Amino acid sequence: MPKTPLRAFASLLLAAGIARAAAPPPTPTPDHHDGQPNEVFRLQALRGGVYALYGRGGNVGFFVGPDAVVVVDSEFKDIAPGIIGQIRTVSDRPIKYLVNTHHHGDHTGGNEAFRSFAVIIAQDNVRKRMLASPQVILRDYPRELEEAKKAGKADDVQFLEDAIAWAKKVKVDEIAAPMVTFDSELRIHVGDETIEVWHTPPAHTDGDAVVYFTRANVVHMGDLFFHDAVPFIDVSSGGSVMGYATALDKVIARIPADVIVIPGHGQVTDLNGLKAARQFIGEILGAAEAAKKAGRTKQEFLSSVELPAYKSYDAYKDRFQGAAAAAYDEVP
Ligand SMILES: [Zn+2]
Repeated sequence: MPKTPLRAFASLLLAAGIARAAAPPPTPTPDHHDGQPNEVFRLQALRGGVYALYGRGGNVGFFVGPDAVVVVDSEFKDIAPGIIGQIRTVSDRPIKYLVNTHHHGDHTGGNEAFRSFAVIIAQDNVRKRMLASPQVILRDYPRELEEAKKAGKADDVQFLEDAIAWAKKVKVDEIAAPMVTFDSELRIHVGDETIEVWHTPPAHTDGDAVVYFTRANVVHMGDLFFHDAVPFIDVSSGGSVMGYATALDKVIARIPADVIVIPGHGQVTDLNGLKAARQFIGEILGAAEAAKKAGRTKQEFLSSVELPAYKSYDAYKDRFQGAAAAAYDEVP
């Protein structure tokens, strides 16, 4: 099977903690650029003690309670101390919990900075995938390294070489994987806030969780939501386009109309913003299904499929074909 850029990207993301070069296809926020950690961040107070923190990886969310701070996602290793610094600008309460929405390195790479004082929580598959990442790198990256060398992609070569070196020397207990894992749901109680963590059907990966702050009425979607961007669906980590639609339907059915929505990437929005992302998934699945019904091959479908209404979406060029291919593979 021909290797796609997405395939390479999927595996690049496995290397939690050394993921700087593997930052996902940019989902630019006004602050999305390399720079000194404190220039990277933008903090936004939302409601009920919940904040969104934009940085260089997946968006961070956090809740400040009377006796504890709860954080969602940790971006990258190099800027994680800056995340803690940003939290410290609004609270000196202890950071007791860190929830990972899934295993990708732009959401878990900073775990190490939290592990000595916070309980790190995620769905069972997140821990499994993080602990397995050295073996996956040693299995898959040497081949990708050869291809990157042939294609003259210097950045990829450097990243892959670093990742392989890391995978050879890392010990499993050095990987800052979640130490508390759950199967389907978990609740964290802090003051009068109840933070619900819901595992969804496989969507972006097979370990996705959505974090809902019930009293504040704010939801952190992890990478179940790329706002105004084509989503990345990591099929190699158990993700699914049809699952993505089902997962979004389930979440949308559970959250109130006036919810504030923190996407994994892109700007904070509302329920309508989230529904637009669901609409996109529905259209790509619809296009794939129509093509299959008309007897068109995958190649024929991919060479002509377009969703013009979404061309202004971030990463349309980089990710649309991958999402379309996955949709074609899945639809009946
Ligand atoms: Zn992700």
